[in-house]
Amino acid sequence: MKVQYDLHLHSCLSPCGDEEMTPCNIVNMAALLGFQMIALTDHNSCRNVPAAVEAGKRAGICVIPGMELCTNEEAHMVCLFPSVEQALLFQEYVEQRRLPIPNRPDIFGRQLVLDEEDRFLDEERNLLIAAADISACEGASFARKLGGAAFPAHIDKGSYSLLASLGTLPEEAGFCAAEITARGDIPKLLKQCPALESMLLLLDSDAHSLETMQDPAPWLDLPELSPECLMEVLNGDITVPWGRE
Ligand SMILES: [Zn+2]
Ligand SMILES: [Zn+2]
Repeated sequence: MKVQYDLHLHSCLSPCGDEEMTPCNIVNMAALLGFQMIALTDHNSCRNVPAAVEAGKRAGICVIPGMELCTNEEAHMVCLFPSVEQALLFQEYVEQRRLPIPNRPDIFGRQLVLDEEDRFLDEERNLLIAAADISACEGASFARKLGGAAFPAHIDKGSYSLLASLGTLPEEAGFCAAEITARGDIPKLLKQCPALESMLLLLDSDAHSLETMQDPAPWLDLPELSPECLMEVLNGDITVPWGRE
């Protein structure tokens, strides 16, 4: 089945995410736009994942538990998990390796934790955008150990991308997929990094506001609409057709 996806979205838990990016608003906007599968990937935290997954169940959208990890290479990597439990285990691992720098809401914005009805639960006190002391290889390997998958985020960006930080994608990380921005120049990227030829290229919005959630053009042809099936595809266990309208 052709699944229209966006595997990189930020909620009001990310300091740079709009406060209107609540779990229910994200899921309802995704439903309006016609997505079948989205992932919630806040910076270095999964605390809004339980609410988004519950809201997704109500709206009939498959919400993949996730996180955008900032690695010690100062690069962003999207980590996705088959269940909320696995995502929260990954979060515990990241929390132990995050610098405890207090957030400055006046500068960076508030970091709100909400429930599945968008009710306030808590405000995360530690700044979530600082790099964790985890390399891309370590993070990817631990995500896989938990049954999840990882891919380098927005590799065509000039900052916070593994390609910009290292000039290449580390082979040891074993990536089978990579994310490019909607405007990414694919031929130029393939020249810069020939390893991408054999990889699944994902086009996500990385939206931090409801207006920047994009129309669902990219698709994956998945055997079934489930987090487990997506993990198999991202880990290269199965190969599926993919593209954009
Ligand atoms: Zn990023
Ligand atoms: Zn992001």
